[in-house]
Amino acid sequence: MRRVRAYRVSSLVIRHRNLSEADGIVTLYTRERGKLSAVAKGVRRARSKLAGGTQLFCHAQMQLAAGRSLEIVTQVQPLEVFYHLREDMRRYAHASYVAELLDSLVHDESPDPPLFDLMLATLRGLDNGGDPPTLVRGFELKVLARLGYGPEMTHCVICSAAIGAGKAGFSIAQGGTMCGRCANAHGAAPLAPAALRAMREMVELPPEELAKRRIAKAVGEELERILRPFVDYHLARPLRSAEFLGS
Ligand SMILES: [Zn+2]
Repeated sequence: MRRVRAYRVSSLVIRHRNLSEADGIVTLYTRERGKLSAVAKGVRRARSKLAGGTQLFCHAQMQLAAGRSLEIVTQVQPLEVFYHLREDMRRYAHASYVAELLDSLVHDESPDPPLFDLMLATLRGLDNGGDPPTLVRGFELKVLARLGYGPEMTHCVICSAAIGAGKAGFSIAQGGTMCGRCANAHGAAPLAPAALRAMREMVELPPEELAKRRIAKAVGEELERILRPFVDYHLARPLRSAEFLGS
């Protein structure tokens, strides 16, 4: 029999589904190997040793073994189970959205430790009482920027003029900000200076800082109106969890 080598990863469970009466499949975002799927055998049985650390969102140290098609979870040591965000429907809905967004945007096995750290910090912020819309908008902006989807926020996407404090617009299809003149000419949606300032700030601020902030309601609503369709524009299919976000 071929001996399969086990290896350890720091993991976040970004998706969990049932495989059979006893087994489950988890989609993990790992610090060392990026996204991968693994079978958790017997996880649905009472007193399974794997159950605690394979719940959705859980941060755990996992030991995996290479299986025939999927990896196999052999040991789990839960580190953070994010108890509070499980107890609160609104926080749970926002955490589900960031997990589904990450799952949709990243390919299997392309590790990106800073992206792992961003996801972990966002879950911690949601668990520790941070403002969910602020954390989610910040996550969207940072993950899109990290994966090269923009949006452009400093120059006009048409004429390259620097965007100052005056009138500006935002175009989803063109990938970001437009100066007042180009926004007029192309019929781009207007972008309020406060919303643009908030976007620039959110992409710069570390998630630990974002967790202490709360964007003003009107600004938050404008950002949601801009960023949710911008996110969808870059995805192959709409996110199911998006409809449960509320505000
Ligand atoms: Zn322009």
